[in-house]
Amino acid sequence: MPGFELFGDAERNEVHDVLDNGVLMRYGFDGMRKGHWKAKALESELETFLGVKHVQLVSSGTAAVSVALAAAGVGAGDEVIMPTFTFVASFEAILMLGAIPVLVDIDDTLGLDPDAVERAISDKTKAIMVVQMCGSMADMNALKSICKTHDLHLVEDACQAIGGTYNGQQLGSIGDLGCFSFDFVKTMTCGEGGAVITNNPDYYTNADHYSDHGHDHVGSDRGAETHPFLGYNFRISELHAAVGLAQVKRLPEFLNLQKRNFDIIRDELSKIDAVEFRRVPEGGVESCAFLNFFLPDLEIAREVSSEFKAQGVDACFHYYDNNWHYVRKWEHLKDMKSLFPLSEEVRNGLNYLGSKTFPQSDSYIARNISCLIKLSWTEDEVRQRAQLMAKIINSAV
Ligand SMILES: *Cc1c(COP(=O)(O)O)cnc(C)c1O
Repeated sequence: MPGFELFGDAERNEVHDVLDNGVLMRYGFDGMRKGHWKAKALESELETFLGVKHVQLVSSGTAAVSVALAAAGVGAGDEVIMPTFTFVASFEAILMLGAIPVLVDIDDTLGLDPDAVERAISDKTKAIMVVQMCGSMADMNALKSICKTHDLHLVEDACQAIGGTYNGQQLGSIGDLGCFSFDFVKTMTCGEGGAVITNNPDYYTNADHYSDHGHDHVGSDRGAETHPFLGYNFRISELHAAVGLAQVKRLPEFLNLQKRNFDIIRDELSKIDAVEFRRVPEGGVESCAFLNFFLPDLEIAREVSSEFKAQGVDACFHYYDNNWHYVRKWEHLKDMKSLFPLSEEVRNGLNYLGSKTFPQSDSYIARNISCLIKLSWTEDEVRQRAQLMAKIINSAV
């Protein structure tokens, strides 16, 4: 996945453009910047690649999720349904708005289980946040139809899935709003950065203003702009956007490498009866950022994971025992450990988590291994790696 593996002249040249004219900010300074608008150019490249009308760059993927929810009007006391398997950013971004994360089981796609979503809807639910974890997707048709029936916003966190598609549409572009991260370890990176994407002009305007102190971005005199509503600073810098601009042009090359490496490992592991791959919904094509598979039980998954580490098969994760991506170890959320007082509404809203268990999610995550697919591996290295992985699995099952 990480685009930083292949940094080169393209990234260097884009960054030099910015340093040469000295304008590190994405707005204003029109004369000084000598025609260089890196953030604007990256937004336009992403609009083309993703097939959406609007892209608003922001400072991170976490900011993108908060900005997307805010743009749709989600705020204090509103419930947002999200999966038990995701990065901690999902609940952070919801809590930051004073909204309440409602955690819901995943299924064998490793994404939101539509039946569990339906059961979790209350009169406070405002949005469903689907997370396209590890380069693949939840059952989007079912989730879309639930959102339609209950009049809910569908927000797509596609931070790990750039380049994946569903019925020919890019992941991230299927919901009302989509979010991407360009942090240092994502398929395409800015160092830090993110994007909110949408086809809805009002949501776009909201995201554009909200992420820059509420500025209306009318005219070329920043000091004369008005503030139609409150906002904050989630801007990306020109330096970060410059790196992303070089990377987005290389994205097709990155995605081809990812797929080549993914296919080699998948083909080798598919010879093993005990290995079962995650379900990809009909019409879905993975981005190949990760290869995900299930082993027969928790003990075998633990053994395989520790043997992978011992024998140098790096970048494979057994999320059941990991602090970052699965509800089981989110003690700071369950215990509501906040630096500042949370509102009573949020505290009451989060209370359920202290005692709630997720046996269905456990049954998938306990048996799941997620292997990051690197871009810099040579074909020979991937083949050797695939054989070593198969050998380790075969001796554990
Ligand atoms: C990386 C990631 C984020 C957060 O992105 P940052 O840019 O690191 O803030 C959010 N959701 C998922 C699924 C991610 O993988």
